[in-house]
Amino acid sequence: MSFADLGLSKELLQAVAELGYEEPTPVQATAIPSVLMMRDLIAVAQTGTGKTASFVLPMIDILAHGRCRARMPRSLILEPTRELAAQVAENFEKYGKYHKLSMSLLIGGVPMAEQQAALEKGVDVLIATPGRLLDLFERGKILLSSCEMLVIDEADRMLDMGFIPDIETICTKLPTSRQTLLFSATMPPAIKKLADRFLSNPKQIEI
Ligand code: AMP
Repeated sequence: MSFADLGLSKELLQAVAELGYEEPTPVQATAIPSVLMMRDLIAVAQTGTGKTASFVLPMIDILAHGRCRARMPRSLILEPTRELAAQVAENFEKYGKYHKLSMSLLIGGVPMAEQQAALEKGVDVLIATPGRLLDLFERGKILLSSCEMLVIDEADRMLDMGFIPDIETICTKLPTSRQTLLFSATMPPAIKKLADRFLSNPKQIEI
C-alpha cells in the first residue's frame, strides 16, 4: 500500500513525500479512503500511530474541492489540550503547504482579540480546545452553521478532563448533515454513548 493508492491529490502526495513519509501507517491506510468517501469514523488509535494525518490529509482534499461560502469555517478539530491543538495546527500547515486554506488555532492562553481578528477575516478550518471555542461561540464571534466536518480527537482524554458536556453542546451547534470523526485511545462507555448520539453509521477501526 502506498500513499498514491489512497485517493489523495497530487499536492498532498508531494507534501507527504517531502516530509519523508514512505508509506501510510495502518490507521492512515484504513481511515483515509473512508473519510474521502465522506463516511463517519470511529478510530481506536493511540498517539504515535499517525492518526493526525489520517484526518488532516483527507480533510484538506475535501475542503480544497468544495466551494467556500464566505469563508465560514467548514471544518472543526477539537483537541483536549493547547499543546495537542498546536501540534495538529503545525501538521495542518505542513500537509497543506500546497493548498490555499486558512486555519485558526483557538486555544486558551492567547488573547481573545487576536483570535477574533483572525476569525473576522474568514477561515476554513478551526483547531480548538472546547472551552475557548464555546467562549468565542457564545460571544457571537464564530458561526458554525457551515461546518461540515467535525473531528473529536483524543476523546478519552476529553472525558478525563470533563469536556464531554462542552462537546455535546458544540455538536448541537453544528449542522446535523456533517461528517464526524472520533479518535480515542480507549473506548469507555461514555465515549461509546457520545459516538452513538452524534455519529451516523460510522466505519470502525481498531489499531
Ligand atoms: P501522530 O500519531 O499523528 O501524532 O503521528 C506521530 C508521528 O508520526 C508524527 O511525528 C508524524 O509526523 C509521523 N508520521 C505520521 N504518518 C507517518 C508516515 N506515514 N510515515 C512516517 N511518519 C509518519
